[in-house]
Amino acid sequence: MQEKPYFCPNCRSNRVKFSVITSYAQSFQKDALSGSITEFKDPNAIAESEPTIQCLICHFTGNELRFIKQAEREPRMNTPTTPLY
Ligand SMILES: [Zn+2]
Repeated sequence: MQEKPYFCPNCRSNRVKFSVITSYAQSFQKDALSGSITEFKDPNAIAESEPTIQCLICHFTGNELRFIKQAEREPRMNTPTTPLY
């Protein structure tokens, strides 16, 4: 994953809360007659060139690049947080 700001292109209100979706392959063996599972191997993460990101606000799922591009299009404004009296 890249160390760049994300911005959800769907709800356009979330820059903070995401999850990364990783695919795993877990091989197992079955008994040919009964169909019962006889052996489970350890799961292996499937390496993906580009991670899949999910927005935790609207549950939109897309390539990491879509979130990065949206953040580049609409960068967060550095507005001062101190109120003016
Ligand atoms: Zn969203």
